[in-house]
Amino acid sequence: MMKYDDYIYDLSTPGRTGVDMPEPDVPETPIPAEFVRDELPLPELSLVQATRHYLRLSQKNYAVDKGFYPLGSCTMKYNPKVNEWAARLPGFTAIHPLQDPHTVQGAMGLMYDLQQMIAEIAGFDAVSLQPAAGAHGEFTGVLIMRAAQLARGETQRHKILAPDSAHGTNPASTAMAGFTAVQIPSDKDGNVDIEALKAALDDEVIGIMITNPNTLGLFESNIVEVCKLVHEAGGLVYGDGANLNAIMGVVRPGDLGIDVMHFNLHKTFSTPHGGGGPGSGPVGVVAELAPFLPGPIVDLKEDAGEYVWKQPAQSIGRIKSFHGNFGVMVKAYTYIRMHGAAGLREVSETAVLNANYIQARILQMGDYPIPYGHRCCKHETVAQGKISGAEDIHTLDIAKRLIDYDFHPPTIYFPLIVHEALMIEPTETEDKETIDAFLDALDKIADEARETPELLHKAPVNAPTRRLDEVRAARHPILTRLPSATATQ
Ligand SMILES: *Cc1c(COP(=O)(O)O)cnc(C)c1O
Repeated sequence: MMKYDDYIYDLSTPGRTGVDMPEPDVPETPIPAEFVRDELPLPELSLVQATRHYLRLSQKNYAVDKGFYPLGSCTMKYNPKVNEWAARLPGFTAIHPLQDPHTVQGAMGLMYDLQQMIAEIAGFDAVSLQPAAGAHGEFTGVLIMRAAQLARGETQRHKILAPDSAHGTNPASTAMAGFTAVQIPSDKDGNVDIEALKAALDDEVIGIMITNPNTLGLFESNIVEVCKLVHEAGGLVYGDGANLNAIMGVVRPGDLGIDVMHFNLHKTFSTPHGGGGPGSGPVGVVAELAPFLPGPIVDLKEDAGEYVWKQPAQSIGRIKSFHGNFGVMVKAYTYIRMHGAAGLREVSETAVLNANYIQARILQMGDYPIPYGHRCCKHETVAQGKISGAEDIHTLDIAKRLIDYDFHPPTIYFPLIVHEALMIEPTETEDKETIDAFLDALDKIADEARETPELLHKAPVNAPTRRLDEVRAARHPILTRLPSATATQ
């Protein structure tokens, strides 16, 4: 039988090639010796071998286009292919950011409209599309908050508060910007603890970073009071908008008292993410903070009917080369235009309905506790991998066993405040049959945990790779495999 190896060098046969180069019509010149490195051989393959090799590798992977991907907080919705069509239109791909603005009015018009649409959806006055991801948007937002306070002469402020349910990027962005992260505990209902917040507020606080709905999937019922208290202390409120999928067309963060917020176009607005590909994390602000936005942003000169680049008056400066990840903006724009205002509201309502259906069925099943299950959830629900009668089974075992049932596992061990967390976010693009099949798998796994626990400890058994030693992989990564080990075989 033919041996298919995962390693392309093992397929190499000296002298084999995948292309026929035309006869050169210029004199041949040898490559300068200093550029030739014998220790970097290329695998020699036919075109068919190379095609099959990469397709086989891709089929070992898991993707939203292949199955259910309920990774909590990541909003792994289906990304419509029409977005890709739009982003590949030659009018968008064959332009350069340094072109004369007169020659790229269409692209600038799209960016302008996207700025306006994001501002409208979330209730802000101005938007910059520059940041390349959510965490980059957070970093930008934190710098904006600080710049506004420095402009008021408030040099003493250096602390940024964040609840203990916050995404790790919140304290990380705080530290990256050079400030001090302060953690605020949650109360028994999963809200920010108001008394703890009051105790932490003083004239050294820049502001709070808050996620609403929070990472427990719960709408902060005290959000208006939180904003009021922070503002009274001279602070500003940063909204982590990664979870906007739950509230579009229902409530606008700007109306709740939030001053600055980033948006993950690669979550809510259906552009692909994962694997480190390009994202986009625009930042929206209230009028008071608009002068501090990173620039240039697109402005419309109404009288001339012309789009121009504008540098906000007290801009924190540029935080990304050129104008951000433009292709991602085209995809998000397409998605928003495809849905329209009513459609976006339906997206959020369906995402919330799906999550509540999951929460209700898990509560009914009774195998996986949901510590905050007494409240309706928003876009996600957080259960626990603590199955009674199976004390040596942990969330990790359950997640790995789900792979055997052909589901991508939920986010695990986050948020940190839930012991053995299983954070499930279905999004609006999943049908009831798929969600039921996932819940049936969870149900079956609970039985297996009690009857055949060794099956869970060994899982996954049906996947291309078995359970990896993740600690060793993180501590002693081997990032390259040199061909010399096998090239001579
Ligand atoms: C995804 C996410 C982020 C970070 O976004 P990136 O684009 O991955 O940097 C921040 N906060 C929350 C709540 C998120 O879910």
